[in-house]
Amino acid sequence: MILRILLIILAAIILYYLFWAPGKKKPAHRKKGKILVKDPVCGLYIPEDEALKYEAGKHTYYFCSPSCQETFIKNQSKGKKP
Ligand SMILES: [Zn+2]
Repeated sequence: MILRILLIILAAIILYYLFWAPGKKKPAHRKKGKILVKDPVCGLYIPEDEALKYEAGKHTYYFCSPSCQETFIKNQSKGKKP
């Protein structure tokens, strides 16, 4: 009886690796290709394609949320004049 159960478990593990593991690897590979950018307001790292972009002169800034973007634009227009 115990041997049969062990064989079934073993078969399940083999099936898992044959059908589940290769499918699971694909999204993980995609994540590796993502470029992370830094939010200058809160310091958070976000994937470039999900970040909000703001172009100021030659620089492009990335933000995690519209509120961070607003804060940055406000700070720029207020005090920082070269
Ligand atoms: Zn932020």
